[in-house]
Amino acid sequence: MSVLDDNISKLDGFLARFRETGIQNRIAGQDVAGSQGVFQTLSPVDTSVICDVAHGAAADIDKAANAAHDAFAAWRDLPAAERRRIIIRIAEGIEARAEEIALCECWDTGQAYKFMSKAALRGAENFRYFADQVVQARDGQHLKSPTLMNITTRVPIGPVGVITPWNTPFMLSTWKIAPALAAGCTVVHKPAEASPLTARLLVEIAEAAGLPPGVLNTVNGFGEGAGKALCEHPKIKAIAFVGESGTGSKIVKQGADTLKRNHLELGGKNPVIVFDDADLDRALDAAIFMIYSINGERCTSSSRLLVQDTIRDAFEAKLVERVNAIKVGHPLDPTTEVGPLVSQDHFDKVTRYFDIATQEGATIAAGGETVGDAGYFVRPTLFTQAHNKMRIAQEEIFGPVLTSIPFSTEAEALEMANDTAYGLTGYLWTNDLTRALRFTDTLEAGMIWVNSENVRHLPTPFGGVKASGIGRDGGDWSFDFYMEQKHIGFATGQHKITKLGAL
Ligand code: NAD
Repeated sequence: MSVLDDNISKLDGFLARFRETGIQNRIAGQDVAGSQGVFQTLSPVDTSVICDVAHGAAADIDKAANAAHDAFAAWRDLPAAERRRIIIRIAEGIEARAEEIALCECWDTGQAYKFMSKAALRGAENFRYFADQVVQARDGQHLKSPTLMNITTRVPIGPVGVITPWNTPFMLSTWKIAPALAAGCTVVHKPAEASPLTARLLVEIAEAAGLPPGVLNTVNGFGEGAGKALCEHPKIKAIAFVGESGTGSKIVKQGADTLKRNHLELGGKNPVIVFDDADLDRALDAAIFMIYSINGERCTSSSRLLVQDTIRDAFEAKLVERVNAIKVGHPLDPTTEVGPLVSQDHFDKVTRYFDIATQEGATIAAGGETVGDAGYFVRPTLFTQAHNKMRIAQEEIFGPVLTSIPFSTEAEALEMANDTAYGLTGYLWTNDLTRALRFTDTLEAGMIWVNSENVRHLPTPFGGVKASGIGRDGGDWSFDFYMEQKHIGFATGQHKITKLGAL
C-alpha cells in the first residue's frame, strides 16, 4: 500500500465518527446541537461533504459565554502548579493524536501533510511553552516610593473569545488558547466555518487532559452570526482574533459597546527584498518556501518579491524553473508540496488574479492555471513585469502566487516595500551589514528576518503594524493581553494626607 493509500485509509477511520454524529458544539463539557440547525463542511480535495456541523449563533454563544463565566473563578483560583499540569497533559494529548489532527486538517483545509504533520506538533509546543510560564505569569513588580510600598500583580482578564481562520486552524487556535488558559482565563472558541474538524479534536483532548467543563467551549457557526455575537457578549472581556483586515475592523466595531479589549492578527502583503550582494541560492530557497508552502495561505507569506535589477533576469529564470517543478497533488500524499485551496470562494478569488494580472499588463511567467476537474487545485504562479502600484502587488491574494518587481537602488526598494497598506513581515537578503541595519530600522513591519525565512521562536513578539494588526503574541506579550495589571500601594508610615473640610 502506498503512503497515500495508507493515509486515506487512516483518515477514513478517523472521520467515521464525524460522519455518524456530525460535529456538535461543546459547551460546559456537553455536546450541544446548534440553535440554527447544521451546516456542512466540505473537503476541498474533491468537494465531498465531510460531515454536518452544529450551526451556532447568538443563543449558542450566550450559553457558552455563561459557561465560561461560571467556570472562570475556579480556573483562575486553581493553584498554578495544577493548572500547569493540566496544560502539559493537553500537550501530551495533542502529541498522542498528532496524526489524526494532521490528517483531518489536510482533508478539511487542503493543506499538504508535509506541513500539517509539523503544525499539529507545533500546537503541542505552544501548550508546553505557555505551561512553563504559568507559575510566573502573575508575578509583578515592587516599585517602592518614599511613602508607599507599591506592588503590581497580574490577574486574568476573565472569559475571552477566540476567533480563528481556516489556514492552519489547529496551530493558530493553540497559539491563542494555550496562553489564555495558562493566564487563568476561560475561553469561547469560534473556529472558521470552513475548518471545524480540528477545533473539535482540541476541545476533546483538553477535556480528556482534565480541563474542567466550561473552561474551553467551542461554538461553530459563521462570522456574522456566532462571531459577531461573541464580540458583542458582555461577559466576554476580550477577543483574540486572527483573520482578514476587513473583518478585524468589524471586530473592533462590534466590541465597542462592551468596551472589548481586542488583539488583531490580520492580513499581509509581505516583501522579500533581494539585493545583488546576497547569498542568492539561499534567498531563492527562502523566497520559494515563504510563498508556496502552506498553499500560500499564510499571513506571513512573502508574496511580493523585490529583486535588484542587476540580478533580476537570472533570479527570475531560476524561480520559474523551480516554481514549475513544485508538486501539486493530493494533500495526504507526503510528497505533495501544494494542495487544493480551501473553498470554492477562495479558489474563485485566487484565480481571478490570473485575469487581473494580465489586464494590468503583467506577465504570467509560471502557473496561472487550475489543475484537474475536481477540487480547488491551482498551479503555483509567478507574475513578472509587474510594478508596485498594480493590484497584484497591493492586494492580499492568499494563495501560491508571487509577484516579482524589480528595483535599482536601496531607497527605491525601501519605498516600495513600505508602499502597502499592510505591515506584517519583511524578509531582507543582503550581506551588507550596515545596509541591513539601516533598512530594517525603517522597514514598516512587525517582524523582519534578515537572510532567513520566517523561523518562529516562541518567546519573540509576533504581530503586525498598519492594516496587519494590533497587539503582539509570544513570550510575555501574550500574558499582557490575557491579563490585567493591578497596582496596590501600602502606606509604610504616617505620610501627610491633605485634609479637606478641616481647619
Ligand atoms: P476571515 O476574516 O474571513 O475569518 C476569520 C474568522 O472570523 C472566521 O472564524 C470567521 O467566521 C470570523 N468572522 C468573519 N466575520 C466576522 C464578524 N463580523 N465578526 C466576528 N467574526 C467574524 O479570514 P479567513 O478568510 O478565515 O482567513 C484568512 C485571513 O486571515 C487572511 O487575511 C490572513 O492573512 C489572515 N491571517 C492572519 C494571521 C496573522 O497572524 N496575522 C494568521 C493567519 C491568517
